[in-house]
Amino acid sequence: MEAAGTQVNLFSLDREAMCAFFERMGERPYRATQVMKWVYHRGVIDLEAMTDLAKRLRAQLAGTTRFGLPEAVLEQASVDGTRKWLLRVDGQNSIECVFIPEPDRGTLCVSSQVGCALDCSFCSTGKQGFNRNLSTAEIIGQLWLVNRALAGFQAERGRVISNVVLMGMGEPLLNFDNVVPALRLMTDDLGFGLSHKRVTLSTAGVVPGIDRLAATVRVSLAVSLHAPTDELRDVLVPINRKYPLAELLAACRRYAEATRGDPITFEYVMLDGVNDGPAEARELARRLSGLPAKVNLIPFNPFPGSGYTRSVQGTIDRFREILMQAGLITITRRTRGEDIDAACCQLTGRVMPRAARLRRATLQPGMAP
Ligand code: SAH
Repeated sequence: MEAAGTQVNLFSLDREAMCAFFERMGERPYRATQVMKWVYHRGVIDLEAMTDLAKRLRAQLAGTTRFGLPEAVLEQASVDGTRKWLLRVDGQNSIECVFIPEPDRGTLCVSSQVGCALDCSFCSTGKQGFNRNLSTAEIIGQLWLVNRALAGFQAERGRVISNVVLMGMGEPLLNFDNVVPALRLMTDDLGFGLSHKRVTLSTAGVVPGIDRLAATVRVSLAVSLHAPTDELRDVLVPINRKYPLAELLAACRRYAEATRGDPITFEYVMLDGVNDGPAEARELARRLSGLPAKVNLIPFNPFPGSGYTRSVQGTIDRFREILMQAGLITITRRTRGEDIDAACCQLTGRVMPRAARLRRATLQPGMAP
């Protein structure tokens, strides 16, 4: 048998890539349909159980392919029903994903990178630095593993996971090539079959990525805005210095046109005395006018050494009122899973910072980092 490294990880292939893979083997493309149904509809990844594939083909696949998944190392449950998984993705790094049950939906929040390079001033993931991109298999693997853990493959009626948000660790548009096949597997009928309205990619504002996304795959877009002026946003979301608000909002307009007016969600973290005043609310309403927009106010989730505090409820209510009066649908996100550090951007996993990793590799020559 070949070493795992040279075997094709079937979780890394979307439908088109899976068809191409079978064609290269001299097989008919409908083999992809058969395998995808086993994997994503029935939750089966044991080749021997895939009884509609010929024995000879199964043996061939056993030699050349694998189903590589992250490894669940810890699961925590909050008193409010939120569940969080720590998933090991390699010898040094772990990521987190969170399932949030609500009466009318079940949302899975998945990670796209190990750590994050953007360093937003109020985000704990950013404080850990960036290590590497997740592979397609590691992204779709989060959904597969949690769906199995929640008995989602056996569910007779409805879906346990009805919504997916790329709002865990990382900036998905800076891992475009691996994220897109994962999005396709989420929305493909032969994959998880979720409606494009129920799969949301959240970005801190990588403008070229927004345009590329619009041209590539249909999903919902969320933008982490957090400030209505460049002066303030330059501090909170440093990528704003590269792609300032006017450029970002123009890209949002293009996205909305390309996706025929589906509303874009604008996330706005409520930081006490920083971005939560009535003047900011009015300026935000002005900047978003004319866009099919929803605003999601996120009460800041504190972490040690952040230097920020959460806006008081009255301030959040007043901010919301101003936006609503300006005609913007505005909701305040309920904080969930706080007792297990699963709330927005308390996702930290275990990230070996690049510098330390490289140092270790030089200290121990011959050892793979
Ligand atoms: N990089 C992408 C995906 C991460 S989404 C993005 O920025 O959109 C995570 C969301 O939680 C973002 O809107 C982020 O700004 C927000 N967030 C980060 N830290 C937070 C904190 N401490 N409290 C509340 N929300 C936070």
